[in-house]
Parts: sequence; C-alpha cells; structure tokens
Amino acid sequence: MPYVISDACIACGACEAECPASAISEGDPHYVIDESTCIDCGACSGVCPVDAPQEKA
Ligand code: SF4
Ligand code: SF4
Repeated sequence: MPYVISDACIACGACEAECPASAISEGDPHYVIDESTCIDCGACSGVCPVDAPQEKA
C-alpha cells in the first residue's frame, strides 16, 4: 500500500529529496504523497523527524 503523510508533518521537506519516485510534493498545510506514484519503499518514513509518513492501512 502507498504511504500517506499525517497531520504530524512539520513541513521540513526532508522526505521530498529522499523519494526515489518523486512522489512527494509540498502541500497545504503539509507535504503530500501522490498515492499512484508511490512505490511503497519506506524511505520517507526513515528520514522523517516526526514519523509522519505511514503506510496506508
Ligand atoms: Fe516515496 Fe518511498 Fe515514501 Fe512512497 S514510500 S512516498 S516511494 S519515499
Ligand atoms: Fe513532513 Fe516528515 Fe516529510 Fe518533513 S520528512 S516534510 S515532517 S513528512
């Protein structure tokens, strides 16, 4: 399942650079993942300081 970014996101931008699929972009109020582009690698979760990216249930 694709990852989704929760409201815990503090918009630091760290995950955007780490995504191999370029699925992450700045949104309002927080960063967002394009679910159709995400390849479910988990890299965003690994770099996020607040653990905001979570695998969609
Ligand atoms: Fe990008 Fe991987 Fe995170 Fe999906 S799980 S948004 S492909 S870094
Ligand atoms: Fe938000 Fe975490 Fe991505 Fe930073 S690394 S923009 S806090 S989801």
